[in-house]
Amino acid sequence: MSIFKNYINGEWVAADNAISNINPSNTNDIVGEYARAGQSQTLDAIAAAEDASKTWRYSNIQARFDALDFIGSEILARKAELGELLAREEGKTLPEAIGEVARAGQIFKFFAGETLRIQGDMLASVRPGVTVDVTREAVGVVGIITPWNFPIAIPAWKIAPALAYGNTVVIKPAELVPGSTWALTEIISRAGLPNGVFNMVMGAGREVGQTLLDDPRVNAVSFTGSVGTGSRVAAACSARNAKYQLEMGGKNPLIVLNDADIDNALGCALNGAFFSTGQRCTASSRLIVEASVYDEFTEKLHAQVAGLKVGDALAEGTQIGPVVDQRQLDQNQKYVDIGKQEGANLLCGGELLERETPGFYMAPALFADTNNDMRINREEIFGPVATVLKANNLDEAISLANDTDFGLSAGICTTSLKSSNHFKQMSRAGMVMVNLPTAGVDYHVPFGGTKGSSYGSREQGRYAAEFYTTVKTAYSLA
Ligand code: ADP
Repeated sequence: MSIFKNYINGEWVAADNAISNINPSNTNDIVGEYARAGQSQTLDAIAAAEDASKTWRYSNIQARFDALDFIGSEILARKAELGELLAREEGKTLPEAIGEVARAGQIFKFFAGETLRIQGDMLASVRPGVTVDVTREAVGVVGIITPWNFPIAIPAWKIAPALAYGNTVVIKPAELVPGSTWALTEIISRAGLPNGVFNMVMGAGREVGQTLLDDPRVNAVSFTGSVGTGSRVAAACSARNAKYQLEMGGKNPLIVLNDADIDNALGCALNGAFFSTGQRCTASSRLIVEASVYDEFTEKLHAQVAGLKVGDALAEGTQIGPVVDQRQLDQNQKYVDIGKQEGANLLCGGELLERETPGFYMAPALFADTNNDMRINREEIFGPVATVLKANNLDEAISLANDTDFGLSAGICTTSLKSSNHFKQMSRAGMVMVNLPTAGVDYHVPFGGTKGSSYGSREQGRYAAEFYTTVKTAYSLA
């Protein structure tokens, strides 16, 4: 089997060791062997990015547009094939994976256009004859560290704005799912970028990732992953005054009021909590239901959850794919046990499932009669596990929704304009959904949260400029 290589300074570079990319739907299926970079290759990639930055930061915006537009077009044209690779390595269902690939393509298209719209300000000075202009410039070398749950969309929403605003990139994808980022890199390698503008090194977080965090030539780090690693990123970057941006966990609430369209609310809960196997930082893990509809909602949701079809990510009709790996499966199982010990009522699921092929299959778990102090309502599980909480009224529901260390996404199902407006105002989350699942966002508007979920300026949409540029204020006397 050939080994997929790292991409450094415009060349494909082999390594001494390889990472096996294993299909979670069938652990006998090896998606590929991917070169495992060490510290020295990471340093080579950083050196190349630093060198390329000297000219790329002044590059013509049409050249940037053309490169990003080319990448976006090819991703979109190959979304079925790339979606299959993504579903095979990560375990989300094929339609979900194709949707994620399409989103990655759209993001590159969006930021292609943004290169033509980089704006500044021109102001009068308080001093006679002087003008002031404020412009945005590239930050320099950007280190990008990504997680396994969105193997192409998250790299896309960091790489595209980085390049659009004139930065050079060294990206390290998650060890579990290097295939999609490798395929994206192969497309980028043909987009006409000068050598060193884009570099991709696969390998361990402690080695490749930590090298990116500690190197003074890396001017900014954009990270998505766990809270624990996020703290390391913060500590390393702040120690050397590098810019950083963190997207971490969520414990997202979905409120269901008694005036909600119950079928729509059930759809939002089912999708938000369990689709993509619950492995989304925007997943609706806490369903907060008004007392007068609590029994009806919980009973109906229970029936729907129990009926979800769990299976091979690539098989037709599969609604819920496998969990990504053994470690995540063990974590999910641990939380199911914790929920039971805490006295929550496990309505269904939680057990391991056998399918035709060996894989990390788990029945989606729904806990009722929970309270917000339980660990299953406070800690991010990151799997197909959701809880139902009872609230007596809107205010109590909102206070439960906000009573969390996280603040990424929050939703409400109601037909009352007054209640939804009140919720939009009172929610402490960065993204608020009305009659929609807490997960599933557009590609052209900001993404991010508050409290323990995020740090730094927002990702995506025009707001991404804040992170990927630095502002220069220039004074001139005519
Ligand atoms: P999870 O695997 O639960 O998504 P992690 O935070 O462990 O979350 O991983 C997110 C990304 O951070 C991965 O690419 C991982 O390799 C990387 N990473 C892990 N540890 C470190 C570290 N010490 N320094 C830099 N990156 C790291």
